[in-house]
Amino acid sequence: MTDSHHLELFQKIAPILKENAIGVDASGEFPRASIDAFLGSGLAGLISATDVGGLGQGPRAAVEIVEQAAQLCGSSAMIIQMHYAGTAVLEKFGQEGVRKEIAAGKHLTTLAFSERGSRSHFWAPQSTAKKVDGGVQLDAHKSWITSASHADSYVWSSQPLSAEGMSTIWLVPRKTDNIEVLGTFDGLGLRGNDSQPAKATGAVIPEGNRLGEDGGGLAVMLETVLPIFNAMMGGVGSGFMQAATNATIGHVSKTGYAHLGNELRDLPTIRAYVARMKNKSDAARTLLFDAVTAMETGREDAMLRVLQCKAVCGETATEVTELAMRVCGGMAFRKDVGVERTFRDARAGTVMAPTTDQLYDFIGKALTGMDVF
Ligand SMILES: Cc1cc2nc3c(=O)[nH]c(=O)nc-3n(C[C@H](O)[C@H](O)[C@H](O)COP(=O)(O)OP(=O)(O)OC[C@H]3O[C@@H](n4cnc5c(N)ncnc54)[C@H](O)[C@@H]3O)c2cc1C
Repeated sequence: MTDSHHLELFQKIAPILKENAIGVDASGEFPRASIDAFLGSGLAGLISATDVGGLGQGPRAAVEIVEQAAQLCGSSAMIIQMHYAGTAVLEKFGQEGVRKEIAAGKHLTTLAFSERGSRSHFWAPQSTAKKVDGGVQLDAHKSWITSASHADSYVWSSQPLSAEGMSTIWLVPRKTDNIEVLGTFDGLGLRGNDSQPAKATGAVIPEGNRLGEDGGGLAVMLETVLPIFNAMMGGVGSGFMQAATNATIGHVSKTGYAHLGNELRDLPTIRAYVARMKNKSDAARTLLFDAVTAMETGREDAMLRVLQCKAVCGETATEVTELAMRVCGGMAFRKDVGVERTFRDARAGTVMAPTTDQLYDFIGKALTGMDVF
């Protein structure tokens, strides 16, 4: 297998994501055809170990795939990135059966961390777990779950069963009795990603579905989820920036003023904005892949870079897509230029937990010698 094998696999499904993206955004429907293509492509098991049938790749490959996907369909990119984030936990703590199903493309998973009570403070779930006859009873008000009605499982946080600590993580099959997905998602951006609240009222799962130690949820979140999640969110932001920049370059290079006989690119202001978009995108992407290298090599500043890469790519994606709207003028409001969807989709990157403002606080604490969490 070559280093770019995963990118070759992605190229086979890229036309399906591209073809469906506008319809998914318009209808707000889950991108079923795109996600079925993803599941059937071999990429569902991208970061699954080879001994369960996966491709055995790490965060770099996951970032590269979601970055490519985000250039075509933001909703699909977010669904894929949540699947990889859940898979990272299941690979480390899950049973062989579910790991094999993921590697075979028969199982889509996602994260269910955010709650009505703790909101974006994912490290402090208010939902509960208690031992009952036949297993563990979960009661929860989850506030956002990507792929809520379509995932096969949720990687779910609760307060601990009996141990000390802030949380415990569970594998919860979506079709567990007494779990109800509430409403439909009608969002500003990422409109097809089926991010809905869900309520568990006495939902019972086997105790063997625990992922990691009882009370060890924070360690799972910080050590297993946060690095790959933040890097992938950076990759999604990078994909939005590249898509917006390329669409803008295309627009200003072929649109002009008949009475002047020129194109938009003949205006120095327009060229300067395009240059700023490219500079910002490339600077953010360079930091992102430096974060990935820091993670891979265990560099001393790896955690700092992990915190930075989501903040920088998320925030810069909002700036670059805003510039795209400005440069493309009134035409930017129309869907055919292709920048307004990236503008809307990119807003989510700053509010996905850890949010940009939380990351600024964490980074500031780290830099001034305070405890981050
Ligand atoms: C499209 C989409 C998909 C999602 N998918 C999932 C999913 O699959 N799984 C999942 O678990 N969650 C998911 N989420 C939820 C997401 O991770 C956040 O938890 C959620 O967006 C936070 O929104 P809130 O209104 O609860 O924020 P709040 O917690 O109410 O925050 C409001 C504001 O306060 C700021 N703030 C809060 N704390 C601090 C602080 N300490 N310092 C500085 N500022 C602070 C925040 O930055 C924000 O600006 C999704 C969200 C979106 C938008």
